[in-house]
Amino acid sequence: MMQIPIEKAQQLDREDPLATFRDQFIIPVQEGKEQVYFLGNSLGLQPKATAGYIEKIMKDWACLGVESFFHAGEPWMNYHDFLVGTLSSVVGAKKQEVVVMNQLTVNLHLMLVSFYRPAGKRFKIICEAKAFPSDQYAFETHVRHHGFDPGTAIIEATPREGELTLRTDDILKLIAEHGEETALVLFGGINYYTGQLFDMKAITAAGQAAGALVGFDLAHAAGNVSLQLHDWNVDFACWCSYKYLNAGPGAIGGAFIHEKHHDKNLPRFAGWWGYDINTRFNMEKGFVPMPGAEGWQLSTPAVFLYAALRASLEIIEAAGWEDIQKKRAKLNTFLWSLLGELDEATGGKQIRFITPREADARGCQVSMLMLQNGKQVYHELMKAGFIVDWREPDVIRFAPVPLYNSYTEVWRFVQTLRGLLT
Ligand SMILES: *Cc1c(COP(=O)(O)O)cnc(C)c1O
Repeated sequence: MMQIPIEKAQQLDREDPLATFRDQFIIPVQEGKEQVYFLGNSLGLQPKATAGYIEKIMKDWACLGVESFFHAGEPWMNYHDFLVGTLSSVVGAKKQEVVVMNQLTVNLHLMLVSFYRPAGKRFKIICEAKAFPSDQYAFETHVRHHGFDPGTAIIEATPREGELTLRTDDILKLIAEHGEETALVLFGGINYYTGQLFDMKAITAAGQAAGALVGFDLAHAAGNVSLQLHDWNVDFACWCSYKYLNAGPGAIGGAFIHEKHHDKNLPRFAGWWGYDINTRFNMEKGFVPMPGAEGWQLSTPAVFLYAALRASLEIIEAAGWEDIQKKRAKLNTFLWSLLGELDEATGGKQIRFITPREADARGCQVSMLMLQNGKQVYHELMKAGFIVDWREPDVIRFAPVPLYNSYTEVWRFVQTLRGLLT
């Protein structure tokens, strides 16, 4: 039926240097049958090691109580150091530019406090239309907080008539048009709905050329695609760790603040955990921030959440971020060739692919606009053991990821989909 035979997928799996990393994750099983989990874009799978890392914190707490901060085998005070090394290579940053704290929406607000500072005629935020709701609400409420009207202060980049994703040129043009009135350009690295990967380097350059600051919400990009936040000169970014970073539901988030902003003592909402570590416990008046991104921390860290993130980052470290990226590219290219065949077989009548096909404009996720019987196809896929998701009114999203998905799973998925459509 398919031109690309299953043997091809099996061969790619045999040759895959990362194939064994799948064994480090707990693959969901239903009615005795291992599921094909394609929702790493929503909640990454649980590493087998996570429970052990959390258990270790439980034991420290039990044995040493608060003393664990300084005297546990792995003192909690230094636990953050286990995280930023790998994480900074994942986002392309220097270690001191990365901090692990809070959750995404909270961090987005903290970043807006520091980096959305309307002045004079600059008050606008430029973002993508249909950004994730939390992002929209954050923009809306910050704009109001500064006394502006979201209707005029928030400028959304929208796809051209008849198109589903944005053209980079159109984004750059919009930035130039509003340039002198723009305080901030803030895009998702990858849009959660379309799966489109934006040209962050070009957007950053254009925003800064217009005199604005530029940030990214990397919820769907961190742990998914290769990022070079430092080199792209991005001002700031934030992300969650439960999607492609596999750190569990409500995982601790992260933020990036470019080194060029570190010495400026930027305005921020502060807490004691962001206070200079050498004098923090003198408990003195007058906020003195830690140097670097850690100076944005607020609260005593959630050490359990640190532990869960660490378990996941150690897998990334062991697999090697560069090799993970190589597999991602290969796995997704394989997927898209199968989807290309499917598209031909169905004459393009059943599915309209929202996610761009070009390798530099997407990550792991594929969003499919279902033109016929979408909901039924979704239910049949789930019944057949493929865990994907449905977004109203008619979109199926799925994302094979390099650490625990195989070429054979991808092949079987497309074959099943083809069987349902033809
Ligand atoms: C997933 C996601 C969120 C979720 O934010 P939380 O604070 O972690 O609930 C926010 N923004 C984007 C773009 C997302 O994709």
